[in-house]
Amino acid sequence: MFLMKSLTFEAVKSLLQTPKNVVIVPHVNPDGDAVGSSLGLYHYLIQKGHHVSVVVPNDYPDFLKWMPGTSAIIYFDSQTELAQQKLEDSKLLFTLDFNALHRSGPMQVALEENNTPKIMIDHHQQPEDYAAYSYSDVNMCSTSEMIYHFMEQMGDLELMNSDIGTALYTGIMTDTASFRFPKTTSTTHRVVAHFIEVGVNHSEIHNKVYDANRFERIKLVGVALNNLKVIEHLNTAYITLSQQELDSFGHQKGDTEGLVNYGLSIKGIKFAAIFIENKEDDIIKISLRSKGDFDVNQLAREHFHGGGHQNAAGGKSMLSLEKTVEKFENLVETLKSNLA
Ligand code: 5GP
Ligand code: MN
Repeated sequence: MFLMKSLTFEAVKSLLQTPKNVVIVPHVNPDGDAVGSSLGLYHYLIQKGHHVSVVVPNDYPDFLKWMPGTSAIIYFDSQTELAQQKLEDSKLLFTLDFNALHRSGPMQVALEENNTPKIMIDHHQQPEDYAAYSYSDVNMCSTSEMIYHFMEQMGDLELMNSDIGTALYTGIMTDTASFRFPKTTSTTHRVVAHFIEVGVNHSEIHNKVYDANRFERIKLVGVALNNLKVIEHLNTAYITLSQQELDSFGHQKGDTEGLVNYGLSIKGIKFAAIFIENKEDDIIKISLRSKGDFDVNQLAREHFHGGGHQNAAGGKSMLSLEKTVEKFENLVETLKSNLA
């Protein structure tokens, strides 16, 4: 390991005053906030005269592939050589929307071995100390809102334009489930008001993200809802999707996004989960959501090799789908005092 030099905000600011090669990296399986914050920062830094690359660890859903800057995105897993070159040439490296280097998936080793000063901007709990400068705030609704505050702190809000705003709006909208989660604040609304003032078309963004379903995807939602189970005495609901079910509807990346929320939409339900079989990686991918005090971040960390936030977390299981559900049912029974 190299010696970590820490930077003050003033040092970061002065590094960004002259043009540099900058690389921006979001977490593996990037979501709306990961891609939105990356492209928002990308457009901001380009305006400041930097040479900027966004390198994503792997592919992300089609419903996000319309944001300005999309065509410039480099995929580490399929364009490894180009991505490695960008990392080697970089003078500053932003890591966005993740709190530990392993969350960059296939990029972990490349990032660990890279000596470029890293700047972390993230809102997940328990951040690791790998960056030369960390802007971590678990009270933020999204990393995309943090990019806005970063620009603000840099004294650069006059550089706000509709490309930056469109990307950041998308990140804030998806991470707050359209401004409904409790971490959406009056400040969040002021931030998106600024985006609309510079010409961001919020209605079009909602359409592009939420009304771009394939018919097959809607049929898969039907299967998921059919599989929805409720454990009434524990105010818990969960969904399973087997690989076979996914395959029979021509499953594509992003199809299962948001399905876990159906469980939480049932009156009285405080805790919802979805278990998605992935035969290729030989794992069950798990998403957990809660309302109120029930901490799914802790549960994901302790029992499912994962993490996230108090009310939204994810993880995985190496057991079969049936065994995973059995483990889950036994586990929630022991948490009765927190759920019932
Ligand atoms: P999702 O359920 O939408 O995949 O993820 C919900 C939240 O948990 C996101 O903030 C995401 O970054 C985090 N998360 C999802 N999967 C994992 C995981 O395997 N490990 C960790 N540490 N966090 C995860
Ligand atoms: Mn996020």
